[in-house]
Amino acid sequence: MKSVFVYCEVENKKVAEISQELLSAGKRLAEKLDAPLVAMVNGKDLKGIESQIAPYGVDRLFVGDDVRLEPYRTLPHAALVTKVLKQEDPQIVLFGATSVGRDLAPRIASKLNCGLTADTTILDIGDHFVKKEKKEYTDLLYAIRPAFGGSIMANIINWDMHPQMATVREGVMKKEIFDANYKTEVISVIVNEAVSDTDFVVKIIERHIEESDVNLKDAPIIVAGGYGVGSKENFDLLKNLANILGGEVGGSRAAVDAGFIDHNRQIGQTGTTVRPKLYIAAGISGAIQHTAGMQDASMIISINNDPEAPINALADYVITGDLGVVIPKMIKFYKEN
Ligand code: FAD
Repeated sequence: MKSVFVYCEVENKKVAEISQELLSAGKRLAEKLDAPLVAMVNGKDLKGIESQIAPYGVDRLFVGDDVRLEPYRTLPHAALVTKVLKQEDPQIVLFGATSVGRDLAPRIASKLNCGLTADTTILDIGDHFVKKEKKEYTDLLYAIRPAFGGSIMANIINWDMHPQMATVREGVMKKEIFDANYKTEVISVIVNEAVSDTDFVVKIIERHIEESDVNLKDAPIIVAGGYGVGSKENFDLLKNLANILGGEVGGSRAAVDAGFIDHNRQIGQTGTTVRPKLYIAAGISGAIQHTAGMQDASMIISINNDPEAPINALADYVITGDLGVVIPKMIKFYKEN
């Protein structure tokens, strides 16, 4: 029976955010196909991990639990997932477009001799593109991904490929619990049957994890600055406003490239995708690569001295003026109210 398969990443017994997003997207596809949602997770000490995964409506969960599976190494993980995919034979396979997913998915696609649509931002089941080819497919996965630096959105269908495989960008799929009490069938994978000693040839000597206190994805309010902010020092104004509003500071790539703000605060196609309740864009022109990462904010306020700035077309409110004048006024107002 056709199924939708999601590869879940886990670290320190916690299922990654991206995997929760993928499970939600996978469930929506599975419902359209009237197919089961199947997931797989590999790591160590995974007893009880199903409690984090089942609520997304997962019907079957494959668990590869072995001390050698954490931290991630390409060969054993690829061998394990490939074995399960050959056995399960799903119609659709989803990985996160993370460093793990980007490493694993192409390797597995080549082992299964199927295509891979990388870095997608929209997934659906449908036939309207297919009809153009006068073929009667009605249940193919179609994926949309930005191409040519985000200047076009490419619609991609893997016609005769099986399974249809895609990696999905972080933060673009809405996370949705399907049923908190959903029962999943847990299937333990016998790791030694899928991997051999040579799969562990790579030894991890040292691992450096960069600590970060930046959480743009969950911030309800973001004050983002662009090249128009003018300097690192001027970004203090934005930080001040963000502090008063209880939000985070973000930036455009031009602001990051100019050294005004750290790279881990970049928003957009090659940065983080955000969906805050309020997004204040100060001195940001609104290039498509930037708006791709913030256009789903519930409310957008643009502060720009150019009334024709493209971001204004997307904004709910536009303040035309010098941000060096406007932002101190906002700070004063919010402090007093
Ligand atoms: P600008 O386009 O220079 O705009 C500055 C704005 O500030 C202008 O609108 C100006 O009117 C206004 N301004 C100037 N002075 C003031 C003032 N005193 N008060 C008020 N307003 C003022 N960009 C991203 O942001 N995120 C990405 O992830 C990203 N990925 C990319 C990936 C690729 C492959 C490529 C090719 C580009 C990418 N870019 C990305 C870059 C993107 O194309 C734009 O160059 C960038 O977003 C522009 O940043 P900006 O709006 O801050 O700067």
